Amino acid sequence: MKKYVFGADLGGTTVKLGFFTTEGKLLNNWEIPTDKSDGGSHIIADIAASIDGFLFGSGIPKDEVEGIGLDVPGAVSKDGLVLTGVNIGWEGTKDAAGELSALTGLAVACANDANAAALGEQWMGSGKDTDSLLMVTLGTGVGAGVIIGGRIVAGAHGSAGEVGHTALFPELTEKCGCGNSGCFEQVCSASGMVKKAEAYQKDGCFAGIPMEEVTPLAIYKAMERKLPEAEAVWASYTEDLGRGLAVFASVLDPDIIIIGGGISHAGEALLSPVRESYRKHVFYPAKDTPIVPAMLGNNAGIYGSARMVLNR
Ligand SMILES: [Zn+2]
Repeated sequence: MKKYVFGADLGGTTVKLGFFTTEGKLLNNWEIPTDKSDGGSHIIADIAASIDGFLFGSGIPKDEVEGIGLDVPGAVSKDGLVLTGVNIGWEGTKDAAGELSALTGLAVACANDANAAALGEQWMGSGKDTDSLLMVTLGTGVGAGVIIGGRIVAGAHGSAGEVGHTALFPELTEKCGCGNSGCFEQVCSASGMVKKAEAYQKDGCFAGIPMEEVTPLAIYKAMERKLPEAEAVWASYTEDLGRGLAVFASVLDPDIIIIGGGISHAGEALLSPVRESYRKHVFYPAKDTPIVPAMLGNNAGIYGSARMVLNR
């Protein structure tokens, strides 16, 4: 094992880069803009230049670096090929790892960003010392990653762990971004929570808040003030989230379930009713599975990417 490893988290607006010891200590991190022009064709060269520049500036020889982990916002096959990278302009199958390796002379491993975040939490975050976990990130959408045996489960089509698109709510007729309807994401994302509030609107307002200002944070604050509409939305949301987690845990039976993303900042106000719902719905051997908040925040991706290189 060499001394150092890089993790790169490729997002729609920036690429986050981290320089770690192979024991998992983050020594340095920075960001570069994601250049989506020309079909995203400059992105890999920009990452390579940034890493080469960092090594040159710090005087660290390349033979002390184990490699680079790269995560991308799209499906990645178990062999590390990017199958879809629509947010960043890439079309068709792309060997991003091969390209970055050719430019830097370093070994490169590649995975989906939500999967990398899950691996990061397992390496140095809330899932430390566990063998298997499910991480669910509640944001604009619902991202998720599954780790079993300390490794990312990518699946036959790069879509393992995509719990956001499990069709759990057949009563929904509206279409999801994926083309189906009734998806978990439609109910348990930030916009899903706001949708629940819409059912309670009166004169263009929810709990006295103009509809256009209703966000999960506004709903949370109104719930804390014990406004009945907000309490009802919160109860319905946490019930649905707990039910979803119970379904996923019945398949995976992970050591731990980690919740990340903006809504997770509600802490126990979220987790406590979610655990209650989870226990009610899960197959009984898994009823005591810990459900805990994520620890690494926006750095989970760089941690997990770096770890992928050590796992290869
Ligand atoms: Zn969907």
